Amino acid sequence: MEGEAYELQKEYHQRATGYIKQALECDESSNNTETAILLYKKGIRELEKAVNIYIDPSNSRAAELNAKMRKNLTMARDRVNVLQDLIRKENAIPTRAQRPTSPRRVLSPPPSALSKFQSPATATPMNHAVIKPKQVANAAKKELPTRSDHDSASSQSKRPALKLPNVEPQLISYILDEVIESRPNVKFDDVGGQESAKRALEEAVILPVLRPEMFTGLRAPVRGILLFGPPGNGKTMLAKAVASEAKARFFNISASSLTSKYVGEGEKLVRALFAAARELQPSIIFIDEVDSLLTERKESEHDAMRRLKTEFLIQFDGVQTNSDDRILVLAATNRPFELDDAALRRFPRRIYIQLPDSRTRRHLLKHLLNKQEHNLTSADFDWIAQETHGYSGSDLTSLAKDAAMGPVRELRVDELKKLSVSRIRPVSRPDFVQALRKIRASVTTSTLDKYIQWNRTFGDCSS
Ligand code: ATP
Ligand code: MG
Repeated sequence: MEGEAYELQKEYHQRATGYIKQALECDESSNNTETAILLYKKGIRELEKAVNIYIDPSNSRAAELNAKMRKNLTMARDRVNVLQDLIRKENAIPTRAQRPTSPRRVLSPPPSALSKFQSPATATPMNHAVIKPKQVANAAKKELPTRSDHDSASSQSKRPALKLPNVEPQLISYILDEVIESRPNVKFDDVGGQESAKRALEEAVILPVLRPEMFTGLRAPVRGILLFGPPGNGKTMLAKAVASEAKARFFNISASSLTSKYVGEGEKLVRALFAAARELQPSIIFIDEVDSLLTERKESEHDAMRRLKTEFLIQFDGVQTNSDDRILVLAATNRPFELDDAALRRFPRRIYIQLPDSRTRRHLLKHLLNKQEHNLTSADFDWIAQETHGYSGSDLTSLAKDAAMGPVRELRVDELKKLSVSRIRPVSRPDFVQALRKIRASVTTSTLDKYIQWNRTFGDCSS
């Protein structure tokens, strides 16, 4: 079976090699761009088929070929994007100022590593895939702007200048305007409890960015961290706190916004996202609700969805293999059970964001009420903390909001209109008695058991 998969993989790869070699010839001959695109695309299709074949990780030859093909795939796609961009520019009527003297001037030659794509005749199984990502990365860097304007944290709040040669300008604008988050207003201290999660994040994210020289070799920071746990306990808050405390560029995108893009657009956005993160590193890519992107593959799954997922995994692999890149993929989910093995493997740290314990609930409640007039005693807080066993952070927020409405609800509308704010009575224990009748814990015990079980099997032992 394994041998068969490897043979099939090789077959697709050889076909891809044939197409890409022809594509390169057209590409290099300068005036055959459209044919080159067509041939690259044929090669890409074959590579896609090849990388989607399930490979037993113990078959090292097949796994190695698979990894190399993924890199080739990225490069071939990038090349197609560059060429398509060129054609688009050529078709647009340029203004006098924009008109290039020769279209070739705006196009770099195909990456040298792509040129090394060998024909099936000369390739041996082990040197089938010879694209060297570093070589291309270096070649690409020559065309990119310098990093001088975003190396320092002081540039965090500014809209960074970003030019990516093979990414559509609209996508760059989208990333700069909608995805890059400038210092969210959440600090670690705002997140109640979750001490072990905070420690793990500090160790994995904040310290390496502050002192990169200390975190090399065996101390190299992980490239993928998953925050999981029941809804409403601070996963998104923690990620935002990381963004505001770490001196790294923060790319915040929810998986649902990727999957809701038009067919093909999500893939492009994923590519653009990682390219931008590489360019503006140190970077953190935060994928909220990652379950909607990386769920187990289903038979009925749409092809486009499958491609989007594959693209994400390919890009993510690029981050893991290039040790010079300082990019972390941070993801959050309240449905960890739905993630497949391929996804899990890429998140070596999986941190359980639990329901708050009684001490944390007390702390959260005090924090929630500290800007509100109230006459709750310390014993009242103890009592509410006890009564709210099983409540999530957001349940507690709803509870406090409901209790805070108590004094206002007592008033008639005409009183409400006249009464000054300072004369509204303080929130008191009976308001919480009422609120506790209405606002219940949103996570059931059986659901909670599922998280506990999942954490035992897949989670970090430290949390
Ligand atoms: P989901 O899985 O539904 O995305 P989440 O874990 O990402 O949930 P958040 O969005 O971070 O949850 O939290 C929701 C709201 O609940 C926050 O805006 C905050 O008001 C409150 N909250 C939850 N957990 C905490 C916490 N640990 N400290 C302070 N507030 C919290
Ligand atoms: Mg969330």
